[in-house]
Amino acid sequence: MLETFSSNGQFYRGNLHGHSTNSDGDLTPEQHCRFYQQAGYDFVCLSDHFRPIYDFQISDTSPFRTGDFTTIIGAELHTGRMGNGEIWHFLAVGLPLDFEPPSETETAPDMAARALNAGAFLAYAHPEWNSLTLEDALSMPDGMHAVEVFNTTSSTKGRGEGSALLDQLLNSGRRPCAIAVDDVHRYHRDALGGWVMVKAAENTPEALLQSLKRGLFYASTGADLINVERHGDFLHVECSPVDSVWLLGHGAKVTWVDGEGITRAKLPLDKFKGGYARLSIQASDGARAWSNPLFMNE
Ligand SMILES: [Zn+2]
Ligand SMILES: [Zn+2]
Repeated sequence: MLETFSSNGQFYRGNLHGHSTNSDGDLTPEQHCRFYQQAGYDFVCLSDHFRPIYDFQISDTSPFRTGDFTTIIGAELHTGRMGNGEIWHFLAVGLPLDFEPPSETETAPDMAARALNAGAFLAYAHPEWNSLTLEDALSMPDGMHAVEVFNTTSSTKGRGEGSALLDQLLNSGRRPCAIAVDDVHRYHRDALGGWVMVKAAENTPEALLQSLKRGLFYASTGADLINVERHGDFLHVECSPVDSVWLLGHGAKVTWVDGEGITRAKLPLDKFKGGYARLSIQASDGARAWSNPLFMNE
């Protein structure tokens, strides 16, 4: 978590999960890119469904890069079934365009391992929406990078959260990060609701992907983490005005500061020693942000 704020570079805003007319979205890939560029984003990963009904197409957004806007190639991957019988959905950011379709017998963990080997940043997609269990999640490779803690399109269908799975994985010794995404399809109620702020030396697909894999980012639905530093046994937080600053850890461990329009907070770390601590903030209008976990056992 701390390296996100101490490392060189600047923050770039991006949406990592979205769909175009190449699968079941309403805008073409070019319109998708221009939509986010005009909304002030620095980059997107257009992640169309990698499924036989869409001819296993991986959307090539590279023609739509401009001087100040870039794209990462990716897809939402599907194969095999979760414990509840639903088909697996997981997000792969940074795939080669010639990534091979799954065989009929390839399992989700095997396909995830293949995507990791191909260099992708992998995330559990919308875990609340399709009732992904801890057992499902632990069946996937240890190298899975992140959990969607907020998914805009799933929130418009009543189940857009993911922090519970994030904490259960952290409680189990895994080390996933937290991302917020749109998973945009319709481009009105399901757009511009959740994003990542990635710290990178430059706004290129290579630099962004490297920072994502190193956990140099935070997730947001409107609140900003400006700086986070550790001084001894305290975490010093600087943020956009919020009403709550929570530090969350193993089991039910929590410490917090609340009030009106907090922009600085100092939180004791002692109860998180030997485990993890992650920041979550919330403004009066509901806007939130989530840091990646800080591990206190090293
Ligand atoms: Zn999905
Ligand atoms: Zn999706």
